[in-house]
Amino acid sequence: MKGISASGKKVIERSLDKLFDGAAYGLLGPFGRGKSILFTSKSPNLTLAHLFVQAMRNREPNLSERDLLKGLLGTSLNYITALRDRTKASVIDRLDGAIRTGTGKLTTNEFKKIVREEMEKSRKHLQMIAESETTKVRNHGAAMDILKVGESIGAKDPVCYFVVVHDDKTCKYCIKNHLRDDELTPKVFRFSEIKHSYLSTVERKAGDVSTHGQHPHCRCTLVMLSPGFGFKDGRVTYIGMGHDELASQRSADQQGAQP
Ligand SMILES: [Zn+2]
Repeated sequence: MKGISASGKKVIERSLDKLFDGAAYGLLGPFGRGKSILFTSKSPNLTLAHLFVQAMRNREPNLSERDLLKGLLGTSLNYITALRDRTKASVIDRLDGAIRTGTGKLTTNEFKKIVREEMEKSRKHLQMIAESETTKVRNHGAAMDILKVGESIGAKDPVCYFVVVHDDKTCKYCIKNHLRDDELTPKVFRFSEIKHSYLSTVERKAGDVSTHGQHPHCRCTLVMLSPGFGFKDGRVTYIGMGHDELASQRSADQQGAQP
């Protein structure tokens, strides 16, 4: 009972390495190949590093911001590498099993079918990684900008909110946790109240918010609310000198909670 040959295994592994290397390069640029991060805004500017700088409104990142980005990209790369290894294992495992149970040989069509099925699963995962890592990096860049702007106006713990993309794909937690009960007005938070990790189901249900978004595929963007500003029909509006949107939302919530 023979399985897949060692040389066949190598060929498959090598082609998957190449495929995932391309995916990592597309998302992470040279960092995906173990090189240093490129901070230029030259095209193609679709890598995570560029999105981070863009979200900082194209300010040159300082040393600690570069460190943060490096850490974020490192995690993204780990997700891709883990998916690559898992895909290798499952493709080889399935081919091996099919060879052993059959006549000891696979037709080209049988081979193609197995590889196609496994690659389709992997492609979906990769897309999910790309989307969630994009939200994460974009919102971390925005967070760096918020802290910087906050500092310049003397706000150590700035007030922020999430801009929610409204369409048929918007999830209920984005609406519940990022918007008020009218499902239109953004909820405001202190910067220190925002988490910096992927939320668990328990955290999501408890109404927590995070720079990673509410869930994979989350498209909500973190933004700072300047003092004096609030919302009208869900849009940011200047209310008046001394207006404190956070205090006004929280006191409305407390009154609403009273019997
Ligand atoms: Zn969202």
